[in-house]
Amino acid sequence: MTAHLRLAVPNKGRLLEPTVALLRDAGLVFDARERSLVSRCENFPIDILFARTEDIVEFVGDGVADMGITGGNLLEESGRSLEVRAELHYGRCRLDAAVPSDAPAQRIADLAGCRVATSHPATTARFFRDRDIAVEIVPLSGAVEVAPRMGLADAIVDLVSTGSTLLVNGLRSVGTLLSSQAVLVAGEGADGPADEVVTMLRAVVDGRERRYVMMNAPLSRLAEIEALLPGLGSPSVVPLARGDMVAVHAVVGADEMWGLLGRLRAAGASGILVLPIELLIQ
Ligand code: AMP
Repeated sequence: MTAHLRLAVPNKGRLLEPTVALLRDAGLVFDARERSLVSRCENFPIDILFARTEDIVEFVGDGVADMGITGGNLLEESGRSLEVRAELHYGRCRLDAAVPSDAPAQRIADLAGCRVATSHPATTARFFRDRDIAVEIVPLSGAVEVAPRMGLADAIVDLVSTGSTLLVNGLRSVGTLLSSQAVLVAGEGADGPADEVVTMLRAVVDGRERRYVMMNAPLSRLAEIEALLPGLGSPSVVPLARGDMVAVHAVVGADEMWGLLGRLRAAGASGILVLPIELLIQ
C-alpha cells in the first residue's frame, strides 16, 4: 500500500477557508466537514490532518505530519527551522508595533523603555534584541489591542491586515516587525510525494496571479502589441484566415490586466478575451 503523505491544515480561523479552497483548486477531492480530524483524499495519496493553526509547525517539526500549511508569523514565532516550500499568497498580514494615538512615539526605536504587550513574545523579543532596543515584553494570549487601555502596557505588537482593529482601539502603528502570509512547510525527509504537493500548490498560486489573454491584431502592428506583452517569454502568434491579421496569445499578470487592455486596443488589438488560468507549472 502506498504511504499517505500527511498534510496538516488549519481546522478553524481565518486560514481555514482559503486553505481548503487552495487544496480543492489543486484538484484534491476530500471531505472537509467540521469535526473530522483526518480526511483521506479520494484521488491522491494524501491524508489531510485538521489541526489548530498554531499547532501545525509543531506537528510538522515533531513528524506527526509530513507537511503543513500555516501562517509565516507562527513559524517565525516557533523558532523552528522548518523549510518553507511555498508561499501561498493569502493570509497576508503584518506584525506591527503600535501605541495609543496620543503617545509621543513615532518610530519603533522610540519604544525604548516601554512595556510591549504581544502574543508573539519570541519574535518581538528577538526583533528588539537584534536592534539593541530595551523593552519589557508582556506576553498575552489574546486581546492584545486592549492592553494599553488597561494599563498593562505602553505599546503592543500585534497582527494587522487592514489596520481597522488598531483604529477602533485608538492605536497607531509605529512600524512593522514582520510581513507574513500562509506558507507550506515541510519536515525533514519529506521528499517524493512532498515535491508533488509543492508543484501542485505552486501551480495553483501561480495560475491565480495570471490571466491568459487572446486577441486579434493587424499583422502590421504586431511588434507594438508584442512590446506590451512580456508575459512568460514571447507571446504565441497564430495566423488567421485573413492574411493581414493574426491572433496573439499571452500570459499576463492579473494585476496588470486592466492597465494593459486600453493600451492593447490603442495598439490595434480587437476581440480581446481574458481567461483564468487553472494551473501554471513553470
Ligand atoms: P486564526 O487565529 O486561526 O484566525 O489565524 C490566525 C492566523 O491568520 C495568524 O497567525 C496569521 O497567520 C493569519 N492572519 C492573517 N491576517 C490576520 C489578522 N489581521 N489578524 C490575525 N491573524 C491574521
